[in-house]
Amino acid sequence: MKLLNEFNIKFLSKSENESFSRIVITAFVSQFSPTVEDIADIKTAVSEAVTNCVVHAYKNSTGYIQLSAKYYDNGKLRIIVKDKGCGIPDIEKARKPLYTTDAENERSGMGFPIMESFTDKLRIISQLNKGTTVVMEKNIGCKPSI
Ligand code: ATP
Ligand code: MG
Repeated sequence: MKLLNEFNIKFLSKSENESFSRIVITAFVSQFSPTVEDIADIKTAVSEAVTNCVVHAYKNSTGYIQLSAKYYDNGKLRIIVKDKGCGIPDIEKARKPLYTTDAENERSGMGFPIMESFTDKLRIISQLNKGTTVVMEKNIGCKPSI
């Protein structure tokens, strides 16, 4: 499996950067001629992960979010969204549909279920007060236009 391209960026946990992250991931995957449906899935999944960093990881503060992606010659896209925020005490619980620690702000607890269903693989690694890493994989087919 050969790496065809990758990027790695870091930006502040401001809500304005949720749309920024959607634009960045769309621009990156577009060079591989994905389907319109795959682009929609990927940008929604990335947006959910980045929003979680903004609203949960760095709840009352601001910190850095790292977004990176790698695309391989077998058509696999791997995306990583990483924060150094509060961490998740119980990952299994957090992954469940409708589980939220922020119902008062109209959160619905659907971010992780959306990431899971819009990608092929979702892995969450988290340590309290150290941060959270979300790894998503999606096969978008092998159509490099470069
Ligand atoms: P929604 O995404 O529907 O607006 P939500 O963000 O609460 O609601 P999920 O995205 O599924 O739902 O996340 C579930 C819970 O996991 C959150 O309520 C929060 O407690 C925790 N969580 C998710 N991401 C992080 C993170 N990066 N850092 C700390 N806690 C997180
Ligand atoms: Mg969420």
